[in-house]
Amino acid sequence: MSNLRPGPQWAETLVQSLPQGIVTIEESGKIVFLNRSAEQITGWRMAEASGKSINQVLPLAAGKEQFLERLTEASAIAPIHALNRQGRDVMLAITTASLALPDGAPAQTVLVIRDVTTEDAAQRLRSYFLANISHEFRTPLSALKASVELLLEGVEGFTPDETLELVRSIHFSVTSLQTLVDNLLESVSIEAGRFHIRRRPTDIRLLVAEAEALMKPLLERRNQALITSLPDGLRNLSVDPMRITQVLVNLLSNASKYGPVDQPIELDVSLQQDRLLRISVADRGSGIPAEDRENIFRRFVRLDEKDNAQYGIGLGLSVVKTIVEGHGGTVGLDERPGGGSRFWFTVPLEVA
Ligand code: ADP
Repeated sequence: MSNLRPGPQWAETLVQSLPQGIVTIEESGKIVFLNRSAEQITGWRMAEASGKSINQVLPLAAGKEQFLERLTEASAIAPIHALNRQGRDVMLAITTASLALPDGAPAQTVLVIRDVTTEDAAQRLRSYFLANISHEFRTPLSALKASVELLLEGVEGFTPDETLELVRSIHFSVTSLQTLVDNLLESVSIEAGRFHIRRRPTDIRLLVAEAEALMKPLLERRNQALITSLPDGLRNLSVDPMRITQVLVNLLSNASKYGPVDQPIELDVSLQQDRLLRISVADRGSGIPAEDRENIFRRFVRLDEKDNAQYGIGLGLSVVKTIVEGHGGTVGLDERPGGGSRFWFTVPLEVA
């Protein structure tokens, strides 16, 4: 078999092998050619698209503007948000050039198209994350600074109660920062594949007590009592104590944040069929619509972003899910009779 040398067949093979979509259009926008990658991006076969307008083959996702109006003299145009034939949103990075055709042939423009939908989503996630993370740090840091400055200025003049109030406020801010940093570090190690559970024989009652102590300043601030119920005679479990404490802290801090002030939060530990330990945290907040219940365990997912007056970056529940599943357990949430949510997780009593 002879080697394929540059020539018409070679050029055809080259164009069809490119990972970028190649589309050529006449001045009117009529499509002349689509390579295989362009077929994949647009969802249109060459035979069907040929002769149709690019405006029809790649309608823009929003507004009344048409594809051709976005083409300018510049070779690279701003990413275009279009719909493919199946109606799926795609973000396309497009570079254009005039085709050098023999004299007298009608002019044609070539569009080199790259589907950047995934990169774009990742980029938006990063920007969203950076914008929110600075806010997350700034809020407790400003509060810390204000309390420390007050203490520095007026230690002599403060009553013991006033001093205690300031120290409590500092404790509150430090706790918020600590939870935030723990979730961030955990998230980074999950993403880097460095997440490992370190099991030790653990008394679950001690973990509940520790989570309760950590949560105290947040709960006090919102005047929420924590009602815990634990069965007698619990054996030690083989779990990662720091991680399970983090799960408890995340669920409790959500119950506190999203639950109303002055309303108690309930933490129940129960045994299920002598096989599982089930721990639940229940609040009287607005609850979570059934269709969002799976979704909220994904990273960066926050409900009602506009109305969500509570601080947060949407990492807590994803960390909870990874830790619990790492222990061989499951997470979930139920609607709570009388209003609110009951988040729960299970841990197998025996390590598989
Ligand atoms: P964050 O609290 O930082 O936003 P999470 O991952 O802990 O992140 O929670 C994700 C979203 O789930 C929250 O933004 C909120 O919309 C919703 N949510 C979590 N816990 C509760 C709860 N107890 N009640 C109502 N909504 C909640």
